[in-house]
Amino acid sequence: MTPTLQPCVFFDRDGIVNVSPPKAEYYVLSVDRFFLIPQFVEALGVAAARGYAAVIVTNQKCVARGLITMAGIDAIHAHLRGLLQQAGLALTDIYVCPHGDEHPDRKPNPGMLLRAAHDHRLDLARSWMIGDHERDIRAGRAAGCARTILVHPGPRNPLADFQLSGMPDLPDFLKKELPPA
Ligand SMILES: [Mg+2]
Repeated sequence: MTPTLQPCVFFDRDGIVNVSPPKAEYYVLSVDRFFLIPQFVEALGVAAARGYAAVIVTNQKCVARGLITMAGIDAIHAHLRGLLQQAGLALTDIYVCPHGDEHPDRKPNPGMLLRAAHDHRLDLARSWMIGDHERDIRAGRAAGCARTILVHPGPRNPLADFQLSGMPDLPDFLKKELPPA
């Protein structure tokens, strides 16, 4: 018997899960600067209801730069998981790339998605990647995801399969387009 693989919705973090920090801050370095985007919670609910795993894949070069420790990142993510639990939701996993440039885990490289697929028996060919930057789209494509969604108000990026102008559009888009797992 072949064990069944589960499809996944991969989410970038900053700009998708939480409000992107203003330019002067650039990184989220403490729990009190982490502002959850309500439409992410709604989108996660849609993914869960359709039978998808849900994994966050986030570049956090601030660790390599010495601005925060991995323990600090973990504290932010424990806070996030607590907020989601209050909404009756859970993430399958969170992958963090703490490295600087030129690391196989650092998006646009697909390392985190490939590891998640191995760790959680995910079907990449039926998985979706959602992000607010071209490097997220590139990582999703490199991992062999079925669909890539760019959430960005700028000009249409031809690399992405779909583009939404902002997070308010994401829940309804998923309700309409995400097939049952
Ligand atoms: Mg982002």
